[in-house]
Amino acid sequence: MAADLEAEVPAIDKSLLECSAEAAAAKWLQATDLPKEVYQHLTYYVPRIYCNGPNPAPQREDMLAQHVLLGPMEWYLCGEDPAFGFPKLEQANKPSHLCGRVFKVGEPTYSCRDCAVDPTCVLCMECFLGSIHKEHRYRMTTSGGGGFCDCGDTEAWKEGPYCKKHELNTSQTAEEEDPLVHLSEDMIARAYNIFSIMFQYAVDILTWEKENELPPGLEMVEKSDTYYCMLFNDEVHTYEQVIYTLQKAVNCTQKEAIFFATTVDRDGRRSVRYGDFQYCDQAKSVIVRNTSRQTKPLKVQVMHSCIVAHQSFGLKLLTWLGNVIGYSDGLRRILCQVGLQEGPDGENSSLVDKLMLSDSKLWKGARSVYHQLFMSSLLMDLKYKKLFAIRFARNYRQLQRDFMEDDHERAVSVTALSVQLFTVPTLARMLITEENLMTTIIKTFVDHLRHRDIQGRFQFERYTALQAFKFRRVQSLISDLKYVLISKPADWSDDLRQKFLEGFDAFLELLKCMQGMDPITRQVGQHIEMEPEWEAAFTLQMKLTLVISMMQDWCALDEKVLIEAYKKCLSVLMHCHSGFADGEQPIMLNMCGHSVETIRYCVSQEKVSIHLPVSRLLAGLHVLLSKSEVAYKFPELLPLSELSPPMLIEHPLRCLVLCAQVHAGMWRRNGFSLVNQIYYYHNVKCRREMFDKDIVMLQTGVSMMDPNHFLMIMLSRFELYQIFSTPDYGKRFSTENTNKDVVQQNNTLIEEMLYLIIMIVGERFSPGIGQVSPTDEIKREIIHQLSIRPMAHSELVKALREDENRETGMESVIEEVACFKKPGLTGRGLYELKPECTKDFNLYFYHFSRAEQSKAEEAQRKLKRQNREDTALPPPVLPPFCPLFASLINILQCDVMLCIMGTILQWAVEHNGYAWSESMLQRVLHLIGMALQEEKQHLENLNEENIVTFTYTQKISRPGEAPSSSPSILAMLETLQNAPHLEVHKDMIRWILKTFNTIKKLRESSSTSPVAETEENIMEESSRDKDKAERKRKAEIARLRREKIMAQMSEMQRHFIDENKELFQQTLEELDTSSSKVPDISPTVSDTKLTALGPEQTRVTEKRQVVTCILCQEEEEVKVDSRAMVLAAFVQRSTVLSKNRNKIIQDPEKYDPLFMHPDLSCGTHTGSCGHIMHAHCWQRYFDAVQAKEQRRQQRLRVHTSYDVENGEFLCPLCECLSNTVIPLLPPPRALFNRLDFAGQPNLTHWIRTVSQQIRTFYLLQDEESASSNCCGNSEKMDQLQLPEGFRPDFQPKNPYSESIREMLTTFATATYKVGLKVHPNEEDPRVPIMCWGSCAYTIQTIERILADEDKPLFGHLPCRQDDCLTSLTRFAAAHWTVASLSAVQGHFCTLLASLVPNEKHGNLPCILDIDMLHLLVSLVLSFPAIHCQDFSGVSLATGDLHLFHLVTMAHIVQILLTSSTEENGMDQENSNSEEELAVLALHKFLCQCTGSALKEISSGWHLWRSIKAGIMPFLRCSAMFFHYLNGVPAPPEIKVNGANQFEHLCSYLSLPSNLICLFQENNKIMNTLVESWCSNSEVKRYLEGKRPAISYARDSNKLIDLPDDYSCLINQASNFSCPKSGGDKSRAPTLCLVCGTMLCSQSYCCQTELDGEDVGACTAHTYLCGSGVGIFLRVRECQVLFLAGKTKGCFYAPPYLDDYGETDQGLRRGNPLHLCKERFKKIQKLWQQHSITEEIGHAQEANQTLVGIDWQHL
Ligand SMILES: [Zn+2]
Ligand SMILES: [Zn+2]
Ligand SMILES: [Zn+2]
Ligand SMILES: [Zn+2]
Ligand SMILES: [Zn+2]
Ligand SMILES: [Zn+2]
Ligand SMILES: [Zn+2]
Repeated sequence: MAADLEAEVPAIDKSLLECSAEAAAAKWLQATDLPKEVYQHLTYYVPRIYCNGPNPAPQREDMLAQHVLLGPMEWYLCGEDPAFGFPKLEQANKPSHLCGRVFKVGEPTYSCRDCAVDPTCVLCMECFLGSIHKEHRYRMTTSGGGGFCDCGDTEAWKEGPYCKKHELNTSQTAEEEDPLVHLSEDMIARAYNIFSIMFQYAVDILTWEKENELPPGLEMVEKSDTYYCMLFNDEVHTYEQVIYTLQKAVNCTQKEAIFFATTVDRDGRRSVRYGDFQYCDQAKSVIVRNTSRQTKPLKVQVMHSCIVAHQSFGLKLLTWLGNVIGYSDGLRRILCQVGLQEGPDGENSSLVDKLMLSDSKLWKGARSVYHQLFMSSLLMDLKYKKLFAIRFARNYRQLQRDFMEDDHERAVSVTALSVQLFTVPTLARMLITEENLMTTIIKTFVDHLRHRDIQGRFQFERYTALQAFKFRRVQSLISDLKYVLISKPADWSDDLRQKFLEGFDAFLELLKCMQGMDPITRQVGQHIEMEPEWEAAFTLQMKLTLVISMMQDWCALDEKVLIEAYKKCLSVLMHCHSGFADGEQPIMLNMCGHSVETIRYCVSQEKVSIHLPVSRLLAGLHVLLSKSEVAYKFPELLPLSELSPPMLIEHPLRCLVLCAQVHAGMWRRNGFSLVNQIYYYHNVKCRREMFDKDIVMLQTGVSMMDPNHFLMIMLSRFELYQIFSTPDYGKRFSTENTNKDVVQQNNTLIEEMLYLIIMIVGERFSPGIGQVSPTDEIKREIIHQLSIRPMAHSELVKALREDENRETGMESVIEEVACFKKPGLTGRGLYELKPECTKDFNLYFYHFSRAEQSKAEEAQRKLKRQNREDTALPPPVLPPFCPLFASLINILQCDVMLCIMGTILQWAVEHNGYAWSESMLQRVLHLIGMALQEEKQHLENLNEENIVTFTYTQKISRPGEAPSSSPSILAMLETLQNAPHLEVHKDMIRWILKTFNTIKKLRESSSTSPVAETEENIMEESSRDKDKAERKRKAEIARLRREKIMAQMSEMQRHFIDENKELFQQTLEELDTSSSKVPDISPTVSDTKLTALGPEQTRVTEKRQVVTCILCQEEEEVKVDSRAMVLAAFVQRSTVLSKNRNKIIQDPEKYDPLFMHPDLSCGTHTGSCGHIMHAHCWQRYFDAVQAKEQRRQQRLRVHTSYDVENGEFLCPLCECLSNTVIPLLPPPRALFNRLDFAGQPNLTHWIRTVSQQIRTFYLLQDEESASSNCCGNSEKMDQLQLPEGFRPDFQPKNPYSESIREMLTTFATATYKVGLKVHPNEEDPRVPIMCWGSCAYTIQTIERILADEDKPLFGHLPCRQDDCLTSLTRFAAAHWTVASLSAVQGHFCTLLASLVPNEKHGNLPCILDIDMLHLLVSLVLSFPAIHCQDFSGVSLATGDLHLFHLVTMAHIVQILLTSSTEENGMDQENSNSEEELAVLALHKFLCQCTGSALKEISSGWHLWRSIKAGIMPFLRCSAMFFHYLNGVPAPPEIKVNGANQFEHLCSYLSLPSNLICLFQENNKIMNTLVESWCSNSEVKRYLEGKRPAISYARDSNKLIDLPDDYSCLINQASNFSCPKSGGDKSRAPTLCLVCGTMLCSQSYCCQTELDGEDVGACTAHTYLCGSGVGIFLRVRECQVLFLAGKTKGCFYAPPYLDDYGETDQGLRRGNPLHLCKERFKKIQKLWQQHSITEEIGHAQEANQTLVGIDWQHL
């Protein structure tokens, strides 16, 4: 089998090519029995074209099929050459004005939130951009595939149905024109003939179920016996299982198995074996056997190759039909006609029916092909769309049944087409009235939920996995119901009424099965053993919530329907509760002279259910009666007399009591399932049709009954009746009963009950209950959300209810209640509540959770204090009730209520025991406040005719009647005002008393003057009050000031820590080391010119440096001979500066890093967090980490964010990822510098001396090797004259302490290991090179960052980088002392030879191919190895200076050779300065040296300018290098951005500001050297244009440019197909932000092998593009992905924000997204700073789940 994939395709049968399409068509045109003729053709040719061999050859097959099979059909159809025929058809066509573009997976789609009829109406990108909606509020999503553009569908859009492109077509065509008029009779007949034959053929063969036999008419005469073993897709088995099984069954490699598996997953089937029957059958049985263990086995069939061939062609044919009808709407109509024509078998025998009904039997690929054909034919023709919709509705039950048995996703099921049909308002209406669709859907749904209890209610308790799976699938039916209901009828026909009510009946039956389901009983004694299943019931409730709301919306539209629905609902409810009083004994309750009969029922003892959809629906309809005023208009038609308020309230009340008891801790033993249910009951997803409606039902009940009776029943259900009905029960209760828990429980229950009363009275913001508009309701929700704290748009949206159109209605009102605050660089935009809206704040808002309530209370009180107001939070003024509910207000002033209030106030006055709580009092005060507000409102709105019946103030002024003879409520309030233990509530009590007085005045004045006295007047009356207020105000001011200072301080801290981590660390460090740091400029040098190197170098006396170890907190001075101190450091390979991303180190073992190419393609970066430790402390720490990790990994097999085996650890202080440490050293140069400055040689002289020394060195080396080989060759030795003062035998003593030497080796080895990705080997001669390289590279990266941000060189570097560079440079300078002296000497010689050639080195890179900074650093840092043997009195500093000058000159030549300076007309400054003349001369000389290959340039100005620009980065880097090496402070001029930077730099670097002088001063030797550089053959090749070279200055690398509009990226990604699986759409297209490559991530198809492991496309790419580090944008998710190595990764916020300043990770909200440049810059900076790995480390430490993700598979 292994060879199968590569098996050669058999040669094409010549006879096939000779077949003439025209001739065949001609024959068909003559034929009498056309079908027979065509079938013969197919029988003969199809098996010859398709399926010849084990693997399909799609291109060849397509080519032949077009030629031999489709060609004749096209000829036949057109009656002429189709090359002419089709264009003619197209021209004659009057195309439909529908766009109908079918979406690809991942393609962006747009929906207008203002104009779309429902959210399923979408536009393609092209139509959207040409439509009016792009100026509207729109939503953008990515398509899941399937579905098409609704542009041009007038039913889909309230406005602007056409885009510019499709608008053109509308003017020409009259709406209902028959498209056939544009076709000739002949054409119609031919199309009809060929379409019916071919469509029939395709349907027959695709639905053919026999494996070894062909349909009639297609039987082969000579039957070749080849078979396929066909593997089918299912959603049960995983990729891994399939791959594993295939490897076993057909003996293929893993790679092939993966290929098969991906194809099966994509197309739905794939042959895995080809051969004779037995051979295939054998594979089949292995597969079946291997996969049958877990679940049902994989589907495998052994099929005759001819069948497979015909099926392949059948699919091709359907696609062909889809293409052909694209030429003409007439052809499309004919095809529709053919498809829907009833066949010989009557009902359901049309081709379309046949296909639909076999849908679940077809494989994925076949389904999607015919679905596509349906979409481009039936759904695009308005007439046939309707007929198709009818077929679909009639088959609905069967289709759903098939779907339920099928295991494929819904997206590939024909049932998914429902959205295309049911959302069209006219179709939906027609299907409801003519096909009774609503009832069909609901009944089908109910049919599929079979598990019921004895009362016929749904039972999910004992659901098996399979049932749970079906339950998930059946939920799509609810979506269908939603589609049908989504557009509401404007006018009703009797038919519609009747069919809707029929559907409503069915719906009530469904709700009836839910009423009372999942009942629960309180668990006492023991905790429940198993959490009961509750999710299914809630899922159902949640899914149905919108449908229930929509049902009510429909009812609201027609009075007749509403009345009927109300009656039906009531009767079902009564039926549900027919056994209402059974077994529940009636009892009599008496209180305050009132009595009522109820039943004995305790929530805490008997069964109770949260699911009461019938009651709640009735509550909703009741509100509609009020809202539509039907209740007043037709009272006689309503069964109002049948209503029994106690029956109505019973179950909702029980449910609310259950919540209260749960809150009081009485149901603890029932476990989390109950807690969850209570949570969802109140949650925004469910509450509208659960909690809210229960409140409405109670309001309905109260408004229809005596409030005293209501309250008594309520007390009884809360099990509090005893407490309030027995005088002095409270007292007894608190003294006798010592059970604290029970007292506490009762307290909570009382609080809850009071809260419930507050809600019943206060929640009147739904139209129909209170006199409000719908916007008032949403405004109130927003006000209360924002009372908690300012919120982002998405947070608000989440807290608000979405309607069926996914709208919250928020945008229309938000401006009125809130102000928007834009986001900064992090965080998001926030809405803040407008101050004038706080007066509407209600502390007991019913949608607050407990936590939200207390947060809101705190926030509001704080706000009041800030505004210097009292802190009372009185109830807001409420809108009046609608008449139907008006009487419920009396609950506040009824006797039982007054009794409850009085009792609780009495307890508060007595203040004894714990039978009383402050929140209880607070709620009573709130209720009193509500009553007062109500009375005040009544008085203020007093009309002539009505009298105020609400007389609360009078009632609370009366003392209690005998026997209790308690004081009046008012009196008790006055007492409480001065109670010391009620300080918190004082403001509220004061407010109550004040309002009471206002009302009294109002009442008194209402008869005489209508003007009410304002509150201020009352304030002024009492001067005592005023005094007190003044004192209070002052205290308040003082407190506020304190608070403000505290806030500022904490704000500052937060700012430091959060926003500016770097700075924070810096400050920490400053604190750490402030005592020891040397100030940058010591006073002794401040007035002299500062010079960084050379004999003129400014002398600085380095002060003692004492640092503290972060681990042991001990101090230590940094000295050569003390214990080593180290910085935590992270070394990584880097391509950040790379100019050639394709270059990677092929064989690291052989790679020679001595010369860095100027493309900087693979550098080694060192970073550090700057935290200092003792080397031995660190060693101990690291050993401990290592030991711990090993234990942990053995035990738990968990990963960590760092890889201990690779030497990684986290900095013990800041948890920064590190993998080695750098030793801290004193300036190393001082140790070797001899202080003799007399008579230093000039450059020429120096080069001569050094060359001599080098020659000696080589001779000695040869000598050595010779002597070790055989006998000594002392002759040469004698000839050799040692240069003066050169002592090659001198071995310098290492000045460093043992521990420092060890650390030098440690860091060097780490750099070598990471930089080259090799095993550590401290002996390798490349170790020192890697150290120098890392020093040079790190300096370069930092220079680039500073330059990009336009920052000066020094003074702006964060401390950690400054420390890092100091240590790194000093380390690199000291490293040679622990390396092999001769190796370093050898490196120096080779390096120098690249500029000063000698005979020993022939093959060095030419100067175009050397990065000069790397060369400089390596030369300077290796030079001491030679110099230490030189005792002639030449200073090391002299060497540094000459080396620097030499490299600088080389760089100038490099720049001149590669500069692309064009002489243009902008030569403005014709000054002919000294520099310009000099550079012209030099350029001329270069031209000579290159044999005039270098173009001559006459503008010195241009040349000088390009040298200055080109050399600047090098000079800046050099300045940093020498600064860190020698410790000479930078002159103040280069610490700021100012003029003459160049001159200042030159001066600091001991360079003449006319750089060309360097050449002139040393022209003797330089002419020779320059000549030698230019004569290199590579230079020649470059100048001849035969090879490229880097030119200067090199641009900084940036991340790619991103488009402003995110949908551009989505579109780009949707056009991207997987590069490996032939044109298939990638599922997770991911964009590399470094190089712009699009990758097919997280998918088997694009996995590759990396170091023996399979990795995803992203990980593989990071190794090519970023040496293991990568920054990607996951386009579908709108998420940035950071990867480092194979195991590290994290997600990062994308740089795209919506208009509300928020990101949308996962593209869930769909608001338009635009690029935020600042945030993108931030990501870019992370990359440039090499902080990606660090960022991942921090993210993983913060969120452990990130560690477990298999990043390498992305
Ligand atoms: Zn479109
Ligand atoms: Zn359009
Ligand atoms: Zn619009
Ligand atoms: Zn220490
Ligand atoms: Zn640290
Ligand atoms: Zn792929
Ligand atoms: Zn890349």
